[in-house]
Amino acid sequence: MKVTPKKHLGQHFLTDSTISARIADSIQGHMGYKHLLEIGPGTGALTDFLLKGDKKITAIEIDNESIPFLHSRYKGQENLTIIHGDFLQTDLNTVEENLLGVTGNFPYNISSQIFFHILEYRDKVPEVVCMLQKEVAERMVGEKDNGILTILLHAWYSIEYLFTVPQYVFDPPPKVMSAVIRLKRNDRKKLGCNEKQFKALIKVAYHNRRKTLRNNLKSLNLPTEYLANEYFTKRAEELGVDEFVKLTNEIEELKRK
Ligand code: SAH
Repeated sequence: MKVTPKKHLGQHFLTDSTISARIADSIQGHMGYKHLLEIGPGTGALTDFLLKGDKKITAIEIDNESIPFLHSRYKGQENLTIIHGDFLQTDLNTVEENLLGVTGNFPYNISSQIFFHILEYRDKVPEVVCMLQKEVAERMVGEKDNGILTILLHAWYSIEYLFTVPQYVFDPPPKVMSAVIRLKRNDRKKLGCNEKQFKALIKVAYHNRRKTLRNNLKSLNLPTEYLANEYFTKRAEELGVDEFVKLTNEIEELKRK
């Protein structure tokens, strides 16, 4: 049985088991979770090493061809459940009632969507250890200078860059370098402002990232005196989570008046 790598599914199979082992070893079990979800097991390059750990594994794979391959490879493997499906459409509450770690060599073409989906379950997912494009990984580590997804992730997770992975350990090799990062749920329980407004504000603030906040926030019809403040000569990429929380509250207050 063979699985032909498919470009549209972002399939680049790991061929170097030392990398798989390093990814698996980077999983710390933050907050003591017992169940790990692997996104995109492919042919099992990483799954093999996850199974050496002490956690129950659920692997979710979208590819029709991978599924029978995985079933035959892991026949009789008790602590592994293989699901044929799309992670982005998966309700994580149906996978596990309690805490659930997430890992994988992510399909790079949908990595942002994967993180947006994880964010919906942030109180359930204490840790994410994953491989993605190096450039994306580097951008995600810094809270500022990055756009909506990074700000949202940093609100709930601390993010560490772990190591870089070269192209030649994949079949087929991707065009770009890869990197492994780890996200750990921080102790923030509440955002401290209305979340919908927070997201809307970040979106507006980043509308044109080269422009000042004053310029981007014009569309919100705020009082001119408010935007006249020196503060609004900053650009969105100079602001972190807490500053966006504060701004969201201030703007809501102004709108209420
Ligand atoms: N873990 C394997 C494969 C990584 S390639 C390895 O390291 O060798 C990424 C994998 O994600 C592919 O197997 C691809 O089929 C799978 N995939 C792509 N989109 C997916 C989705 N929406 N849900 C689940 N799996 C997906």
